Amino acid sequence: MRLRTPTNALAFKRRLLKWFRREGRSLPWRETRDPYHVLVSEFMLQQTQVSRVQSYYARFLDRYPTVEALARAKRSAVRAVWDGLGYYRRAEHLHELAKTLVRDHAGIVPDDPDRLRRLPGVGTYTAGAVATFAYERRVPAIDTNVSRVLRRAFLPTLDDGAGAQRRLHGLATVLLPRRRSTAWEFNQALMDLGAMVCTARAPKCPVCPVRQACRTGRRPR
Ligand code: SF4
Repeated sequence: MRLRTPTNALAFKRRLLKWFRREGRSLPWRETRDPYHVLVSEFMLQQTQVSRVQSYYARFLDRYPTVEALARAKRSAVRAVWDGLGYYRRAEHLHELAKTLVRDHAGIVPDDPDRLRRLPGVGTYTAGAVATFAYERRVPAIDTNVSRVLRRAFLPTLDDGAGAQRRLHGLATVLLPRRRSTAWEFNQALMDLGAMVCTARAPKCPVCPVRQACRTGRRPR
């Protein structure tokens, strides 16, 4: 669904990017554009806090620095490196994914969200995240945090009925900056705002950098 660009879009983007360049989190998977490394980080981050993932991410890539190394590994060894991070189905899917990439894709992670989604364990969010964070593709990556920010800032009355996800996807798409590297920053910035400021239980509206451009934050209290 193609939405018209909301009137507060430009101010929201400017403010968000300015804040992110100053306050954005420095995370190891943001220092790379290696698609396999980004893929590993996205699998680990599913339902797990950033602070817990950091040490596992480094350890996993030490042991399996390439998709080929992971594809060759024994299942029990992969499980052992993942041990303690929980949700072991993710490790199994990641291992399966590495084998599929080596067998069917010459070890190359696709850059297209539709092709990514056909791989084991890759859902809509992960496909978008890998496409934008590894390849700087101008596509949305909408996780829970991003969904919350977009709803509050632009669609505060959106209910969870049919079509809500398509509406959010359309909104996130029209908001994307034209330059690919800026689209990368914008998607990362939305994540950080949702994790650090526009949190689920206690949004910090009085100190929020996009408050003047947010339909919820501007409401009188
Ligand atoms: S002003 Fe409040 S509701 Fe709006 S994005 Fe910021 S924290 Fe979220």
